[in-house]
Amino acid sequence: MKKIVSFGELLIDFIPHEKETRLKEVNNFTKHAGGAPANVSVAAYKNGSDSYFVGQVGNDSFGEFLIDELNNQGLNTNYILKTSEANTSLAFVTLAKNGERDFVFYRNPGADQLYKIQDLPKELLEGSIFHFCSVSLDDYPIKDAHFAAINYVRETNGFISFDPNLRISLWNDLEKYRSVINDFIPLSDLIKVSDDELEFITGIKDQNKAIKALFVGNVKYVILTLGKEGSRIYLNGTDEVYEAKSFKVIPVDTTGAGDAFIGTFLSELNKRKLIIDKTNAEEILTISNATAALVTTKYGGIVSIPNYIEVKEFIKNKWIKRLNWYLSS
Ligand code: ATP
Repeated sequence: MKKIVSFGELLIDFIPHEKETRLKEVNNFTKHAGGAPANVSVAAYKNGSDSYFVGQVGNDSFGEFLIDELNNQGLNTNYILKTSEANTSLAFVTLAKNGERDFVFYRNPGADQLYKIQDLPKELLEGSIFHFCSVSLDDYPIKDAHFAAINYVRETNGFISFDPNLRISLWNDLEKYRSVINDFIPLSDLIKVSDDELEFITGIKDQNKAIKALFVGNVKYVILTLGKEGSRIYLNGTDEVYEAKSFKVIPVDTTGAGDAFIGTFLSELNKRKLIIDKTNAEEILTISNATAALVTTKYGGIVSIPNYIEVKEFIKNKWIKRLNWYLSS
């Protein structure tokens, strides 16, 4: 099996205690470990893969907290660097009634953005499943490190996964943001988007046409997540689409649901030698949906990611409930 390597930001999410409150009126926050690629690495690890996070924090207490949090989840943190050139990035996150959220980021630049090409661990990247997002693709050294890492993974027969994971509030120039995302899409084997991101990325309203437009360059698989409706996978060169419905839960915080989904998906893909077809597509989507659904039922990103046994148990219980309902109706 391949190693799964997620690259990018590891930062503090400050989550307010008061729900449905505007940020300026919040009195109390709790700090949580966050950053989409870090969430993905924990989800892949908890699903059973040999998973790593590569990135950088500041030489400060928040950086120490983040490394401790990932260690507590069992993740190997040997590839997280510390720098004194900048502080650990911070994000303040507000929660709305339905669990949706809004952000304010403090990183100008943050330690994560100063990650340099020469710091990349080539031995780890070689032939790996490499995952990245768009929050770290603005004009800092880490953007060049992304290009270099992707080229190296491609040269060494690895697999590249990109979740643009839009954070519009971080970019002043949205045309530039769209253009950067579109520069990275053709370099990837797999693209994960949510339904509300498609139009921004492609500039196309019609969902099917927008999905087709994502099949450029190396792209073989497009995964579309649909929030509480579930997820789909589209395979290049065919009209085949596979879908799995979400699991019904009461969400309290959707932070990290998409990351837990794709981390689990990559890990399940890894177990199947990177091949998705009609025999396994729905199963992979179902396990990924279940993991993500469980994440929405707890606060915080990383700490709420369940392990594989918890996910299996959850799926079994849900199916027993459905069966009982079916037999009694
Ligand atoms: P994130 O909120 O982490 O950015 P995303 O926008 O990338 O997520 P979504 O489509 O919102 O992606 O959610 C990802 C997956 O999480 C969905 O495909 C689904 O499996 C699960 N999920 C999200 N919201 C819910 C919900 N309310 N109930 C059940 N499952 C959910």
